[in-house]
Amino acid sequence: MNQLFDRRAFFNTLTGAVTFAGVGAHCSTVQSGTASDRYQEPTRQIPIAGRFDVVVCGGGPAGVSAAIAAARSGASVKLIELHGCLGGVWTSGMLSYVIDAEKPGFNTELVTKLEAMEATTYDQRKPKVSKKNYVYDIEAMKFLLEELCQKEKIQIQLHTRIVGAYKNDAGRLETVVTESKSGREAWQADVFIDATGDGDLGSLAGCEWEFGRDKDCPCQPMSLMGVITATPDVLADFANTASTKNKDRLFKEMAKAGYEPTYAKPTLWHMGGATAAVMFNHEYSVKPYDAVAVTEATIRARRELFLMCKSLRNLGGGWSETRLVTTAEQIGIRDGRRIKGRYFVTVDDLIKGARHEDAICRATFSVDVHAATRDSNRKAAYSGHGYKAVPYDIPLRALIAKDVDGLLMAGRCISGDFFAHASYRVTGNAVAMGEAAGVTAAISAKKKQLPQQLEFALINKELNRIRKNASVSTNHS
Ligand SMILES: Cc1cc2nc3c(=O)[nH]c(=O)nc-3n(C[C@H](O)[C@H](O)[C@H](O)COP(=O)(O)OP(=O)(O)OC[C@H]3O[C@@H](n4cnc5c(N)ncnc54)[C@H](O)[C@@H]3O)c2cc1C
Repeated sequence: MNQLFDRRAFFNTLTGAVTFAGVGAHCSTVQSGTASDRYQEPTRQIPIAGRFDVVVCGGGPAGVSAAIAAARSGASVKLIELHGCLGGVWTSGMLSYVIDAEKPGFNTELVTKLEAMEATTYDQRKPKVSKKNYVYDIEAMKFLLEELCQKEKIQIQLHTRIVGAYKNDAGRLETVVTESKSGREAWQADVFIDATGDGDLGSLAGCEWEFGRDKDCPCQPMSLMGVITATPDVLADFANTASTKNKDRLFKEMAKAGYEPTYAKPTLWHMGGATAAVMFNHEYSVKPYDAVAVTEATIRARRELFLMCKSLRNLGGGWSETRLVTTAEQIGIRDGRRIKGRYFVTVDDLIKGARHEDAICRATFSVDVHAATRDSNRKAAYSGHGYKAVPYDIPLRALIAKDVDGLLMAGRCISGDFFAHASYRVTGNAVAMGEAAGVTAAISAKKKQLPQQLEFALINKELNRIRKNASVSTNHS
């Protein structure tokens, strides 16, 4: 019998989900209800559309980096992405600013190639000195990521959502199911990587997970990014990724225009030419796995950005030509599910600067918790809550799922607590984690061993090899 339709495997998956429904609202994947408000979906056969060494779910900073690393380590790779472009928060989220990226490997390759395309400006704090934090051109990022993935012969599939995950009798993830215009399809692999940001795959597979600060929100707010046209005057006065003074002046300017933004430290990044990316908005207490709440937040946020730009334009002067050119396809989600792994990164690790024998990423960014309510935002739009992080290691174990075999995580959905996540979530770290997950998955598939059974020395050697090659590779096609 085809294992996809193995009834026991199917019930195993269900059982996993039901178990977590009892743990608290933050772990619930199954809603309770009476027979009259439940619909029994009929079973049906669906095609197994492909089999790969590695299937990467989610094509954001972590997913793209994982797919490229796995391919460069010799694996056949399928990369499945929900939106119409690769890049996640970098592109469909229109972030425009990379933090904590001064690391060897794909981080260095990316900034070098963006620079060669004249598609990056450095953090104004340290002009032309550091590649740690930089502003990039969003369309150039889309182009570059697609080029790089195609060069590595990664089978990319956009416009496709992961909707199911099925394990075999031994608890090993064997099949993911997607929905797209091609219908419902199954994909099989030796190893899967959850790079969905929100931990969709881990949750569907029945892993334990956490969300927010406690069992429920308070959680970090969401922000819808946008791009505006900006005159040299506006850029000179307000564009600075790090200057609190500029953000405060912009806040006052908005008040003068008759509009108090929901985010008390409005930020403007100069993307090049007469364009700037903007973060003016906060949406509070929204859970990323509540589609209605995310929809309402997106519509509220888009309205705010549109009306804000109109109000600024009415100020005249440097603002007289301001237009909201576009808003992001995807509202920016800071907090998502954190899938439990074989190690749990804690805020204590950050404070003491933890070191691990299986370190795969050295994170240096501070604890950055955006306010949980509009009122607290007025007092402190973001804060470190008194925690001072010193450079710390993320171990590979935090990327290996605890409850399900054959599953790795990369990016913001790895295993850690609320305050640790508030530091390691930035994209320079997501890239480094993706690289490690990709290499581990490729070796695991080749050796026919589970990720946790592999010798770390072997993974480290291959990780260093591909990081060295990536760091020196500066040609872009
Ligand atoms: C408003 C905001 C501002 C931020 N500011 C910065 C900053 O200035 N600099 C910085 O470096 N970081 C910043 N961060 C943090 C950082 O953006 C994220 O933590 C980062 O995106 C993590 O990368 P990721 O690949 O894990 O997730 P994501 O970028 O979220 O990528 C996940 C990908 O998976 C896809 N996906 C999701 N679910 C599914 C599914 N079911 N099926 C298929 N595909 C799916 C998504 O479409 C997306 O492409 C910010 C975040 C937000 C929200």
